[in-house]
Amino acid sequence: MSIEVSSVTKLYDSQKALNNVSFSVKKGSIVGFLGPNGAGKSTMMKILTGYINPTEGVVLVNGINVLENPITAQKHIGYLPENNPLYTEMYVREYLQFQANSYKTAKENIENVIEKVGLTPEVHKKIGQLSKGYQQRVGLAAALLHNPEVLILDEPTTGLDPNQLVEIRTLIKDIGKDKTVLFSTHIMQEVEAVCDRVIIIKKGEIVLDKLLKEVRSNQNQVIEVTFDYKLEEQFILKLPNLISHKNNYDNTWFLTFKSDEDMRSVVFDFAKENGLKILGLNTQNQNLETLFRESTN
Ligand code: ADP
Ligand code: MG
Repeated sequence: MSIEVSSVTKLYDSQKALNNVSFSVKKGSIVGFLGPNGAGKSTMMKILTGYINPTEGVVLVNGINVLENPITAQKHIGYLPENNPLYTEMYVREYLQFQANSYKTAKENIENVIEKVGLTPEVHKKIGQLSKGYQQRVGLAAALLHNPEVLILDEPTTGLDPNQLVEIRTLIKDIGKDKTVLFSTHIMQEVEAVCDRVIIIKKGEIVLDKLLKEVRSNQNQVIEVTFDYKLEEQFILKLPNLISHKNNYDNTWFLTFKSDEDMRSVVFDFAKENGLKILGLNTQNQNLETLFRESTN
């Protein structure tokens, strides 16, 4: 296990921010830590990274007890804190060198992470001159400098515009191919787009912990898709896992699937194979939304 949290409770004075929280995360997975403001997400992440101590409980990262050996544990952890505190007067490479020194990281790692997070075109600028999206890349680069196996990202997409959001999500997904990632968010759709598992936390307690595959297999996926061409029904029927279909407007179909696979990518492939363009695609993933609402209201 990359992360093992056992019966963690955290009190700030008399206020309970975490109440007997336990979960573990397998190596290589991307887990969305989902919950409304004040749920205890940041508190859990600060405990995982050894920045604060729990009142009770044990936390292991790659088998290392974070409470007993924080410095050793931190070698295995990359952390992007909430609000990504950066030195805005520093140049990108200067900042990363500064961070690398504190990790005693090899110089070539700096160039590797710059490339990995797509910072190359902005590397000569001051951090304060960068867009919020690029500033997040700097934060991610800093978290990756010592090549940790586990990444803890606290609301990495908060405050980004829609384009930046998509870019950072894609980047996290890419990074997650060879790392264990725990990232917090209050956006349910984000979990669907990036994660293979969701943990929902509310008022310091875990109220749901499920693989997205499981969530999907229990639900119908409703996809509204607009092609650039009017399709005959017999064409649409070639789509797998289709349980109903409706052609409301000219080129727009409402398709309902039952599958544990994300059918959006299947629809994309279908379009490509048939020489069609997709002009619009929306999903109404009711089950996760319902679960989220039920779990957090
Ligand atoms: P989230 O990240 O999910 O928004 P937090 O972990 O930041 O939640 O906060 C959980 C609860 O603990 C909130 O009620 C918050 O007000 C409280 N809290 C967080 N940090 C402190 C602190 N340093 N001192 C006192 N209360 C805190
Ligand atoms: Mg927080």
